[in-house]
Amino acid sequence: MNKSPCVRFAPSPTGKLHLGGARTALFNWLYAKHYGGDFLLRIEDTDTERSKRKYTDQILSSLKWLGLNWSEPIIFQSERNLIYKEAAQNLLDNKLAYRCFLTKEELEFEREKSKKEGLDFRVPKTYRNLSLDDQKGMLNAGKSFTIRLKVPSKGSTFFEDKIYGEINVNNHEIDDFIIVRSDGSPTYNFTVVVDDNNMGINCVIRGEDHISNTPKQILIYSALHLPVPDFAHLPMILGADKKRLSKRHGAAGVEHFKNQGYSVDALLNYIAMLGWNSGTEDELFSIEDLISKFDINKVQKKGAVYDEKKLHWVAGQHMIQKPEINILDEIREDDPDWQKHSKDNYIYRVLQLMKIRASTLNELKEACTYFFTDPKDYDHKAIAKRWKDKSVNKLINNFIKRLEMLSSWSQTDLDICLRDTSQEMAVSAAKLIHPVRLALSGKSHGPGLFELIELLGKMTTLRRLRKALDIFPLKDD
Ligand code: GLU
Repeated sequence: MNKSPCVRFAPSPTGKLHLGGARTALFNWLYAKHYGGDFLLRIEDTDTERSKRKYTDQILSSLKWLGLNWSEPIIFQSERNLIYKEAAQNLLDNKLAYRCFLTKEELEFEREKSKKEGLDFRVPKTYRNLSLDDQKGMLNAGKSFTIRLKVPSKGSTFFEDKIYGEINVNNHEIDDFIIVRSDGSPTYNFTVVVDDNNMGINCVIRGEDHISNTPKQILIYSALHLPVPDFAHLPMILGADKKRLSKRHGAAGVEHFKNQGYSVDALLNYIAMLGWNSGTEDELFSIEDLISKFDINKVQKKGAVYDEKKLHWVAGQHMIQKPEINILDEIREDDPDWQKHSKDNYIYRVLQLMKIRASTLNELKEACTYFFTDPKDYDHKAIAKRWKDKSVNKLINNFIKRLEMLSSWSQTDLDICLRDTSQEMAVSAAKLIHPVRLALSGKSHGPGLFELIELLGKMTTLRRLRKALDIFPLKDD
C-alpha cells in the first residue's frame, strides 16, 4: 500500500449501534490500526425525520465503550448542505447533471405504463438535454425539479471489491438517478461521494447492502473528476436460522451486551470473527492480536452466522486468561463500590478461583457473592438430598470440633481433618463434603471444597457451619 489508509464509519442515527454496525466500525478501525492509518467518523443525519440526537449519543457512547476511537472532528452531514449544493452546481454547470421537472404523477403514469406493457420501468430522460432558456422558463413558472446525474448511456461501471471481487454493471441498466431532491436535500449516494472525497477516504468498508449503490457512487466520482476509493463490502450477519439478523435473534444494541456484562475484549474478538478468520485454527485474540493479524482480504463473502453460545464461550476464555486486577478494574468501572469493604488481595484470590466459572462480569459477580456475604438462600433440593436427617448434624459437629483445634488452615490440613472426621464416624467423605459445601456456599456446586474453606478462613467457616446446624435438616424426623 503506498498511501496511508483513511477509512470511516458512517452510521445513520436512526437507531442504536447494533452488532452489524459495530462490526463495520471494528473492521474499519482494525484496518486503520493495522496499516497505521486514520479512522474517521461521519454521522449521516440528512434524514431529518428519522435521525435522532439520542441515537447519535448512543452510537458515540457505544463506540467509546468498545474503544473504537476515531480522529476528531466528527463530520455531521446535516451541517454540510452548502458543500453538497456547490458540488451539485458544479455538475449542473458542466452539464453532467440536469434539472428534471418530471412530476410524481408523470413518473407514476410511466411506471404503470411499463408494467402494463410488461417492460422494465426506466426513468424517462425527457429533460436531460433541455436548453438553458427552456430551463429558465420552467423555473420562472415555479416548476419544482430534482437534479439527476447524466448516466452515460454506453459502457459499463466496474470496480474490484476487496471481498466480493470484480463487479461490473452496464450503464444502460442505471437510470439517471436523483442526486438532489425537489426540496433541495441531497441524496445518500451524492453526499457519500462528496464527503468521502472531502475527508480523504481511500478505502470504503461497509455492509454488503451497499454494493448496489457503489456503481452509482463511482459514476458520481467520475462526473466530479475525483479519484475512486477502494471498496470492501462486508457479508451479512445471519441468525442461526440463516435469516438476516434481527432483534428476534438478540441483535439488540451494543448496550445490551454491555448490560449483560460482556467484556469489551471478548466482544470485539467475537465480532471480529463474524466474517473474518485469521486463516489458522486460532479463535482467541486480544485486541493487539486483532490489529496485527487483521486482513480485509481474508473476510469471506458468505453470510456470517451470529451464535450466542459461541460468544459466551469466547467470553469465558477471555475471562480465564485475564489477570484478576484487570477483572476487578472492569467490574468497578460500572459498579465502583463492588466489594469495597474487602481487601483487594482477598478479592483477587476469589476472582482467581471463580473466573473459570463465569463468562460475563455479571455471572462472575453473582458467582462470587458467597465469598463476601453469608448465604441467605440455600439450594433446598440439594439440602433435602444431602442433609436428610440429624445424622448429618453429628458429622458436622464432629468436623467443627476438629476444625476448632486446627492450628494451620492449609488445604492439606483441611483435607486431612475432613477425612479423619469421616473415618471416625465410619462414613464416606462425600457424606460430609456435600453438606459442608451447602452450609458454606448455599450451593451444590462450586470450586474445590478445600480451596473454598481455606479462602473463607476459620471464622467464617465455623460461623456458617454453626448456622447450618441450627437450620438443617429442613424438617425433623
Ligand atoms: N449511513 C449508511 C448506513 O448506515 C452507511 C453508508 C456508507 O457506509 O457508505 O448504512
